[in-house]
Amino acid sequence: MAITKNKSVTGTTAPSRGRFVNTGNGPTFQVIDIGHADYAAVIDPDTAFWSLVKREKLADVLSGGALSSAYAKKSHQFAKEMNNLRFGLKPSAVYFNPTERCNMNCTYCYIPEKMRHDGKHMQEKKLFEALEILKQYFRSTLPKSSKPQIIFHGAEPLLNRDAVFAGIEAYGKDFLFGIQTNATLLDDAAVDFLTSHDVSIGISLDAPTARIADKTRKNWDGQGTFKQVIAAMKRLKGYEGWSVICTISIANMRQLTNLVDFFHEQEVPTCLMNILRCTLPPSRSIKPGDEQAAKYFLAALDRTCELYQQTGRGLPIGNFANILLAIIAPAARRLMCDISPCGGGRCFFALAPNGDMFPCSEFIGVDRFRGGNLFKNDIPAVLETEPFRLVTGRKVEDIEPCRRCAIRHFCGSPCPAEAYEMNGDMHKTGAFCEFYEEQVRYALRVIADKKVDAYLWDGWDKGMKDTFAIQGV
Ligand code: SF4
Ligand code: SF4
Repeated sequence: MAITKNKSVTGTTAPSRGRFVNTGNGPTFQVIDIGHADYAAVIDPDTAFWSLVKREKLADVLSGGALSSAYAKKSHQFAKEMNNLRFGLKPSAVYFNPTERCNMNCTYCYIPEKMRHDGKHMQEKKLFEALEILKQYFRSTLPKSSKPQIIFHGAEPLLNRDAVFAGIEAYGKDFLFGIQTNATLLDDAAVDFLTSHDVSIGISLDAPTARIADKTRKNWDGQGTFKQVIAAMKRLKGYEGWSVICTISIANMRQLTNLVDFFHEQEVPTCLMNILRCTLPPSRSIKPGDEQAAKYFLAALDRTCELYQQTGRGLPIGNFANILLAIIAPAARRLMCDISPCGGGRCFFALAPNGDMFPCSEFIGVDRFRGGNLFKNDIPAVLETEPFRLVTGRKVEDIEPCRRCAIRHFCGSPCPAEAYEMNGDMHKTGAFCEFYEEQVRYALRVIADKKVDAYLWDGWDKGMKDTFAIQGV
């Protein structure tokens, strides 16, 4: 027989009025050294509230006072916003793979080789059917004012160009379209079509010289594609909606500062410098160490700031800009790898060419994470399946040492695909940690030095208002 105790007892709730920092109901303030001469950061890790405090005033702040009482008035609001960001969002984008095939064989690709080599295209009729299903789904979930995004993604979407372009033509009013391409097929006609349909275009390049860039990005015969990518960049010059993705690996990390100069010269509007994802074994052979990767990445960030100061024109590095936004205006962040749970399966999902649905492109090819099929199952039901829940339920609070980490809501402990495939468990860290620590510390130094504008897009704060401001700490 089971014995349960479920009587309620009154009058025993804790009496703390929250007068003291770090005890009772008082605010939790973790202090972190950000490597700045004058400032340290004080962070409430649960709400991602932060403040930069003069080193000599730290003891005062931890003894209560103005910051603590001002924060106490707002902490519920911050907690609510963070909760909404982490658990209250609905999908608004789809990474749509219109083909399994790719004309390249990059070392770090997350799509299994056999699929890329021998795979199939999605037929045009099926592509239209998929877009129609997605249109109806988003109509039922998103407000009329917001347009969902469809990003045609790799393998290489331009191998199935006719179907993709027909889809963009037919559904231009219903979606914001983007395409991520290796740029080898981005000829004049393709650029004309995509730019005249306001499609955002992401291309990939890892270094400013063929010698380095071609080490990791090459075709099936081992020939690099540097020249073709440079030709495509020339065609794109002047268009606002394009960007370049660079993947940081052991092969190119020493070139990041030169790459910044090169992108700036080429008038690239914005770029991403993503640390290598180590989901599949081949990528792990070119995995850089955290410390070294951070050193070169931060030097590249320094260079973007110098260029901004010298020329008045910046080169926002999107993934870093996202961390800055995560700190300054959490709800304005645009990328979703650095929040926990990550965006996979809750802010977006990925669609394979046969209609199979995965929480994120990183999981395509990992059968365990197939949640269902767009042509056979209802989208809301797929979002609730166990493979999706494994990803959407992965929280920093369940991961060691992230659950104790003050910057856990600026880092998010990416990436679940990496953690699962590389470290054997969803509730482990992924391939990097110190890299993210250094990035956040750098971001807080940028804020302390009032240099935020040098790292973000023009007009980044349009429509934003201060929700918390206190001077003199
Ligand atoms: S953290 Fe990994 S699984 Fe999550 S959105 Fe980023 S790449 Fe996808
Ligand atoms: S991965 Fe490292 S920096 Fe990120 S939350 Fe975990 S402990 Fe913190």
